[in-house]
Amino acid sequence: MKCPKCNFVNKPNAKFCVKCGYELLLKEKIWVPDAKWYIKTIIIIYVVLIILFVVASILLKPYVRNIVENW
Ligand SMILES: [Zn+2]
Repeated sequence: MKCPKCNFVNKPNAKFCVKCGYELLLKEKIWVPDAKWYIKTIIIIYVVLIILFVVASILLKPYVRNIVENW
């Protein structure tokens, strides 16, 4: 297990860093999003935005037409 603070390579089951005393287990428990998670989230956000845009354009179409005809 590599220490995130000083990069010293400790034993895999080490609780603390031998070199600097950094708590390794505490850091391991924190969930860090990886590249796959970021791509997935971005795709979901884009899909939701596209759906919202399509729905909004369908719903607003009669209103937009009226504004153009009355102008
Ligand atoms: Zn360390």
